[in-house]
Amino acid sequence: MTVVQQLYDLLAVDVEIDKHKQSIASIDETLADNRLLLGTQRAVEETQATLREQETVRKDLELIVESYQDKGKQLETKLYGGTVRNPRELRDMQVELNLLQEHQKQQEESLLLSLEGVEDTERRLGNLQSALEEIQTARQKQQEQLLGEKTNLEKDSGVLNEKRQGLSSLVSPEHLRLYDSLRSIRQGQAVAKVDRGMCQGCRISLPTKIVQSARTSEKPVQCPSCSRILYAG
Ligand SMILES: [Zn+2]
Repeated sequence: MTVVQQLYDLLAVDVEIDKHKQSIASIDETLADNRLLLGTQRAVEETQATLREQETVRKDLELIVESYQDKGKQLETKLYGGTVRNPRELRDMQVELNLLQEHQKQQEESLLLSLEGVEDTERRLGNLQSALEEIQTARQKQQEQLLGEKTNLEKDSGVLNEKRQGLSSLVSPEHLRLYDSLRSIRQGQAVAKVDRGMCQGCRISLPTKIVQSARTSEKPVQCPSCSRILYAG
């Protein structure tokens, strides 16, 4: 087996190793991304806080309405009870009762609006809570699936790394250095196939002399244009 063929095989393994690394990195990224979950949790908490405030206002209004009702009843008892007979006093009491009922009506309207607000918020909170549950369930499922995939990828990576070690041990340090430096400047593609006289790395037509020597030379022959090691096998 020529050194170029060995490097070509090594490249195939390295490309696989890179793909595995990328897949693992993308899984890690997805696993770490809990923005949707946190955002929904925050929305639930904010809505709960709003609901608590609205409940306080509602209770206050209920107490106010109740106290108006009590006062109104007391006044009515006095007014129609027959114990007060003075016409002026009775007239004053009637005015007071009318005023009181007017205030009570206003507070009852506020209470009604407040109840509607509470119902709205309760509905919104319910929707948010079921959305949160769905997100949690989906995330749990996704996590299990991704962790399974990751385990498999790591297992395969281990096998690939062993294979790489075996292959690279066959190549001289000098050629490995050339290969590594080409990998870093040519987006990992250190070796290019020659097809119909063309370098498949940069697509230029190679001089016949170069194609010939790529076929026969013991040493790696590089493309004059992109510097990749030419594999004419
Ligand atoms: Zn080239």
